[in-house]
Amino acid sequence: MKLDQRLVDAAIELMNAHFPKGEWGGAAAMYTREGDLLTSIGADSPNPAAGLCYETGCICEAQKLGHTVTASVCVCRPPNSDKILILTPCGICQERLFFWDSDVEVAVPDPHDPGQWIAKTLNQVQPCMVLISSVRDKAFLCHETHSQLIGKLFPLISGVPACSKQAGTPVLKMLCC
Ligand SMILES: [Zn+2]
Repeated sequence: MKLDQRLVDAAIELMNAHFPKGEWGGAAAMYTREGDLLTSIGADSPNPAAGLCYETGCICEAQKLGHTVTASVCVCRPPNSDKILILTPCGICQERLFFWDSDVEVAVPDPHDPGQWIAKTLNQVQPCMVLISSVRDKAFLCHETHSQLIGKLFPLISGVPACSKQAGTPVLKMLCC
């Protein structure tokens, strides 16, 4: 299923239902090929570093069901505001979504109005990720295992230093540092 306004509205509806107007709000929604419309909020923690992105619940639910995510949107809203902003998935969530391949659609903000969405594939958002598609199934690896990939990735990455500097994945960032 393709990204559409219905998916965006589902994320907005959950956000508004869950978060009081005086607080920051946010939520995500995803379509699956099997016809699901999944929604989720993030997980807060006393330690902000331990919190989870709004998308995480949808991603875990889809994997639990064995379904394939085809489109994702994430929205947020500042306190005491009616302005709803479209959030591009962070680098980690992009890597999580690559589990379902590079043609998953994600909503990104319109550069002229961050409250409006534009649909892009993961491949468009992070074009250099295609270079490691052969090890895509390992792209969600934790930091401890990134070093195991460097030997495979470096010959590819070193040939395109400009791309590696633009990419946002932890794997590629390690190689750029
Ligand atoms: Zn994220």
